[in-house]
Amino acid sequence: MRTLVLNAGYEPLAVVSFKRALVLVMNDKATVVERVEGDPVWGASAVFDRPAVILLTRYVRLPHGRRVPVTRRGVLRRDAHRCAYCGRGASTIDHILPRSRGGGDSWENLVACCLRCNNLKGDRTPQEMSWELRATPGPPRGGHWSVRGTERADPRWEPYLALAA
Ligand SMILES: [Zn+2]
Repeated sequence: MRTLVLNAGYEPLAVVSFKRALVLVMNDKATVVERVEGDPVWGASAVFDRPAVILLTRYVRLPHGRRVPVTRRGVLRRDAHRCAYCGRGASTIDHILPRSRGGGDSWENLVACCLRCNNLKGDRTPQEMSWELRATPGPPRGGHWSVRGTERADPRWEPYLALAA
C-alpha cells in the first residue's frame, strides 16, 4: 500500500511508501487526510494507522526542471489525438519549427498531426504554409500529469485527484 502525497494546495504531488509518509507525519511535515482502516503498522513502541492520503503542511513549489517529460504519446494525449492544423484524427506528431531548422523536442514545439498535414508541411513552418495552429501548445496541466502511477491509483484517491484537477 502506497500513500498519495498532496501539496498544501491539495494537488497531488507524489506517491510514496507508507513508511516515508509516516515519517513526514511524525515530523509534522504532513497531516493524514485519510487512513487505511483496520491495517495498522506495528512500530517499535507504538501502533500507527497506515496513511492512504497525506497533506503537506507547507506548500511545495515545484522547481521548473520538474516538468512533465515530453513523449510522443503525451503530445497526442494532450491534443486529444486531433491534428493541430486541420482538426482531423492525428496519428503522428509534428515539430512546429522543423528539427532540421533548429526546432526542439518541447511541449511548445510539438503538436499532434495527421499524416496528410505532416506530409504536406515537410520542413516548412506553419507560417510558410499559411496554416494556423488551433491552440497554442504548452506543457499539459492537471493532476493526472504530475503524479506518476496515479492512473493505477487506488479508487479511494479519485476524489482527491478530481479536487486537484
Ligand atoms: Zn491535419
